[in-house]
Amino acid sequence: MIAAEDMYRLGSQRSAIRELFEYGKKRAEVVGVENVYDFSLGNPTVPAPDCVNETIRELTQTLDSISLHGYTSAQGDLATRQAIADYLNQTHGTHFTADDFYMTMGAAASLSLCFRALTTSREDEFITIAPFFPEYRVFVEAAGAKLVVVPADTKAFQIDFAALTERITPHTKGVIINSPNNPSGAVYSEETIEKLAFLLRKKANEYGTEIFILADEPYREIAYDGVEVPFVTKYYDNTLVCYSYSKSLSLPGERIGYVLVPKEVTESRIVYAAIAGAGRALGYVCAPSMFQKVLVKCMGQTGDIELYKKNRDLLYEGLTKIGYECFKPQGAFYLFVKTLEEDSDAFCERAKEEDLLIVSATGFGCPGYARISYCVDEDMIKRSFAAFERLYKRYRT
Ligand code: PLP
Repeated sequence: MIAAEDMYRLGSQRSAIRELFEYGKKRAEVVGVENVYDFSLGNPTVPAPDCVNETIRELTQTLDSISLHGYTSAQGDLATRQAIADYLNQTHGTHFTADDFYMTMGAAASLSLCFRALTTSREDEFITIAPFFPEYRVFVEAAGAKLVVVPADTKAFQIDFAALTERITPHTKGVIINSPNNPSGAVYSEETIEKLAFLLRKKANEYGTEIFILADEPYREIAYDGVEVPFVTKYYDNTLVCYSYSKSLSLPGERIGYVLVPKEVTESRIVYAAIAGAGRALGYVCAPSMFQKVLVKCMGQTGDIELYKKNRDLLYEGLTKIGYECFKPQGAFYLFVKTLEEDSDAFCERAKEEDLLIVSATGFGCPGYARISYCVDEDMIKRSFAAFERLYKRYRT
């Protein structure tokens, strides 16, 4: 458990991304909003699909207050969990049932519950693959465990298996994977997932332990050019899926997602009960009622992903034309660019002088890179190229 002073530190220091976003708002008051190129946050700009607002209208007209706004079961409405199970079974040929799902307040809550449910000792370790979502460290340490980082495979942004193998120990409780990835935009291939599953089975056998995969999947549906996003439970039994509708349905402020505990997980009912227990302990019970009901009607729908793809193409082509070295994103809505000096923090500070707000990847465990969120207005991307060009020239001429 982390101490009160750690909670104070977490609450009083904003994350680097939030800090940058707040800076952008202040800067816009000085130079005008059209002259600030804010690529800091991953806040979806594509509207929620029509069915979301249509369903809300219908629900408010047809349901009484208690049915709509009252507490649901702690683990979520049966109808919602059944609809999710049916949808996944149809899409992936799986055999989930409603009691495999625990509804949560988004992926952040899903992950926190899993870390809390699985951690049994201070020695426990969760491995993450760089570049990784910085909040993992907060969630893992809050559960009383340690975060172990595998350095990035900067060639393809898959997994450096030699580095991962070295870091698996008898204390390893789980490996967190996030694909499509924030911040690299990479999608783990089937080959990567198969290799990972093989390695974890081997290591778990060798140590006589259980090693879980925690598949953090808020970007599952945001993938481009027909790239397949392997459904991890089909490759590895001890997989817990942490899903969220924040990005796929563009509902980040509504806080809705789930943890999936398939029956193939070792002692799955005990793991499920521990997740429900963590829900009680942390107050993550009865996920937002109205949005649970919205999900039933909007199952399988997403915002218009083509709009993100259009932004990806525009930004990738524009920046590579200037001379930047970028990884072409296969999914999510972030472009990962190599910084023009080794110190990516210093590079992002210089970018700020051009009113370009991009996030240094030091906090993502991948120095030498920066993240550019392209869930932004297309016009802002177009207007930003002159600033990107000026920044480039400061280094290359
Ligand atoms: N995991 C990753 C990789 C994310 O990018 C985010 C949000 O940006 C989250 C988890 C948290 O998502 P949620 O808003 O559903 O809590």
